Amino acid sequence: MSDQCLFCRIVAGEIPATVVRDDPDTLAFRDIDPKAPVHVLVIPKAHHPDAAAVLAADPGLLVEIYATAVEVAQQEGIADSGYRAVFNTGADGGQTVHHAHLHLLGGRGLTWPPG
Ligand code: 5GP
Ligand code: ZN
Repeated sequence: MSDQCLFCRIVAGEIPATVVRDDPDTLAFRDIDPKAPVHVLVIPKAHHPDAAAVLAADPGLLVEIYATAVEVAQQEGIADSGYRAVFNTGADGGQTVHHAHLHLLGGRGLTWPPG
């Protein structure tokens, strides 16, 4: 837990979020600035700066994050229509919050490449 980390503060309940799924080691909540009709962030409750750090520290946790995303896709009704699951990493990847998070996007046709 990092006192300064936005997503650690959401895990701690210090900052409100619209939680769609709360599992023992992961939390899924709606992005505050959604880029698609469904835009959910899936995070590990433990602080790791990015997905590569999760993999290095606890590979099973990376699997759990993806498993949570698949569950949320079913819950949100986009499992059949399709979705994008992405970890932005580092400056060129567009990462702005340095607590690992998977973006789950769906509910409309998504362009590729994303730009
Ligand atoms: P990144 O750019 O790091 O891949 O994604 C960070 C995401 O976090 C952005 O899509 C942004 O809209 C979202 N975000 C930033 N601050 C908050 C917040 O306080 N609450 C929620 N729910 N999402 C946030
Ligand atoms: Zn954190």
